[in-house]
Amino acid sequence: MKKMIKAVSLACAMLFTGGVGVAHADAQNPKIGFSIDDLRLERWARDRDYFTAAAQKLGAKVYVQSADASEQRQIAQIENLISRGVDVLVIVPYNATVLNNAIREAKKAKIKVVSYDRLILNADVDAYVSFDNKAVGELQAQSLVALKPKGNYYLLGGAPTDNNAKILREGQMKVLQPLVDKGDIKIVGKQWVKDWNASEAMAIVENALTASGNKIDAVVASNDGTAGGAIQALAAQKLAGKVVVSGQDADLAAVRRVIAGTQTMTVYKPLRALASNAASVAVQLVRNQKPAYNAQLNNGFKNVDSLLLKPVLLNKSNVDLLVKDGFYTQTQLAGK
Ligand code: BGC
Repeated sequence: MKKMIKAVSLACAMLFTGGVGVAHADAQNPKIGFSIDDLRLERWARDRDYFTAAAQKLGAKVYVQSADASEQRQIAQIENLISRGVDVLVIVPYNATVLNNAIREAKKAKIKVVSYDRLILNADVDAYVSFDNKAVGELQAQSLVALKPKGNYYLLGGAPTDNNAKILREGQMKVLQPLVDKGDIKIVGKQWVKDWNASEAMAIVENALTASGNKIDAVVASNDGTAGGAIQALAAQKLAGKVVVSGQDADLAAVRRVIAGTQTMTVYKPLRALASNAASVAVQLVRNQKPAYNAQLNNGFKNVDSLLLKPVLLNKSNVDLLVKDGFYTQTQLAGK
C-alpha cells in the first residue's frame, strides 16, 4: 500500500514538474523548507529543534536555513529551497514586506507556504501559525499598569520590519490609551528598535533618560532582548528595579531578571506547542487535509487562515511553571 501511494505521488510529482527536475508532493514523506530569520537568537533555536522533532514524527524531512537578519539572504535561501523541491515552505520572515516575489515562485511550483510566528504581508500565504500577539501586548501593558497606574511611560517597540511589532503595540495601546485619555499616564516617547537589537534598545533608553531627566516610570519593552538593553541603561542610572519593564519570550536571562526584580514580567509562549502545530499544519497542507484554524488575519493580499495560540503571563509568582513545563531546569533558573 505504502509503495502504491509512493508510486502515485511520484507520478503526480512528474505531472507537476512536467517529468523533469525535482519531485514534489510526496505526501507520505513531505519535504519542509524552514526559513528562519535569525537562528542566532535564543528563542528561534528552540523553535527549530521543536519543529524538526515534530515534523520528523509526522514523516517529514526538514531543511533549515537561517537568514541571520538579512532580507537578501532570506530571499536567496527561499529560492534555494524551492529549487531543492520542498513541498512546503515554513517561513519566519525577517522583513514582512519583501517576500512576495519569492512566494509567487513557490506557488507557481505548487509549494504551500506557512507563515511562522510573524505574518508575511502582501503575499499569497496558505496559513499563519503564531501566538495571539495582541494578547501579548495587552499582558505587557496590564502588568506595568497594575504596578504603576500613573506616570511617565516609554514605548520601546520591536523591529519595524516585523508585523508582530505593530500588533504588540496595538495590544499595548488598547490598555494604555484609556489611561492616557484620563491623564493618568503620559507617553513620554516611543521608538521602534531595528532588528530587535538589544544594544540599540539600550542606546534608545539612555537617550530617553537623558532627555527626560530620568523621569520615566515604565518602559513598555516588546521582548526580552530589548528589555535587557533597557534594563542595562536603567542600571547605569541606578534605576533598575525601580522603573517597571515588560518583556516576552521567557529568555533565560530575562527570567533571571524577573526573579531578581529588575524586570517586571515576561510572556511565556510555549514554543513546543507553536512548533508542533505549525509542523502539523504544514504536513496537512501537503496532504490536502484541512488544518483546524481559529482566526483569519488580513495580510494585505487576503484573509489568511490562522491558528493563534494563547500566551501566558509570567512574573515572580509563577516562574515555576517553566520548570514544570520542561522549558528550564531549576538549576538553570538559579544559575548566574
Ligand atoms: C517574536 C518574538 C521575538 C522577536 C525577536 C517576534 O516576532 O514574536 O518572540 O522576541 O520577534 O526575535
